[in-house]
Amino acid sequence: MKSKLKKIAVLTSGGDAPGMNAAIRAVVRSCAYHNVECVGVYRGYEGLIEGDFEILDARSVKNIINRGGTFLKSARSKEFMTKEGRQKAYDHLIREEIDALVTIGGDGTFRGAIVFNEEFDFPIVGIPGTIDNDINGTDFTIGYDTALNTVVEAIDKIRDTANSHNRLFLIEVMGRDAGDIALNAGIGAGAEEILIPEQDLGRDRLVESLKRSKKSGKSSSIVVVSEGGQIGKNIMGLADYIRQNLTEYECKVTVLGHIQRGGAPSCFDRVLASRLGVGAIDALLSGEKDIMIGVIHNKVTSVPFKKSLEGSNKIDQSLIRVADIISI
Ligand code: ATP
Repeated sequence: MKSKLKKIAVLTSGGDAPGMNAAIRAVVRSCAYHNVECVGVYRGYEGLIEGDFEILDARSVKNIINRGGTFLKSARSKEFMTKEGRQKAYDHLIREEIDALVTIGGDGTFRGAIVFNEEFDFPIVGIPGTIDNDINGTDFTIGYDTALNTVVEAIDKIRDTANSHNRLFLIEVMGRDAGDIALNAGIGAGAEEILIPEQDLGRDRLVESLKRSKKSGKSSSIVVVSEGGQIGKNIMGLADYIRQNLTEYECKVTVLGHIQRGGAPSCFDRVLASRLGVGAIDALLSGEKDIMIGVIHNKVTSVPFKKSLEGSNKIDQSLIRVADIISI
């Protein structure tokens, strides 16, 4: 692979996700493999604006494949939303003689990359790192699989209490406007009902359904509620409504919150991150830019940044059917 690129920078931006470290490691080692210098940028676009850089070699990224979070830290940068901020970032890249950039993050990170590329024609390749799995052009984002496993483990524990006390538990999970985490973790943990933003079940139908399952002999129930769900916007309000209209159960609420974002990445996420990191450097060295590297049908592939923002992957309707059937 003959390329003019001599120095490539890498950063993580937006919400952290398990597997980001594995992706950084793959980018750094891929650079070392191709004799390209690699520069780590701390705190995402914020560090780019401040010139918070450090040269990374293959040994700099030892013992991080198993660690959650991101050792380069992440940030949400207001200043990068301004032309002046982006100009400062560009000036630092030029001063350090950096030829290209790898950005690991979610849709906001890619939006920033698109604007930056339009203004300065600077080569950028993105890697999808977010637990939400809400990026178009890849079947999976880094961190999603680990988050699913964390959620299932947590629900398993809550189920023990639900069973012992004949309780109904409403469990709110992350996912912003995408119901992937709720639907998949709900099926995996054997939830009785799953509320996702892509399908508004309605409060009355939910109560009717819970009554039916109680009559069929169930003594406890788990309802998984996606944070972006129509009736999940206010899970406490939903719990009050259920308490008033379904007296058969004692109703409890658990919001899983940020435990879903941390923890050691699953093997799936480590392998995905490694493939995408290597893919990002391959793409840059082949002269590609303004793209995101993803995996579709188990093949590493690329899509233009703009396409990655064209709505998230549609929810798998067949999974909704599976959830309906097995929760009878
Ligand atoms: P997550 O999905 O985990 O929230 P994200 O990448 O979507 O991750 P954001 O905070 O939305 O996280 O975006 C990361 C950063 O990208 C922002 O803090 C901001 O600096 C930059 N950014 C987002 N949108 C734009 C934009 N339109 N123009 C310039 N920069 C942007």
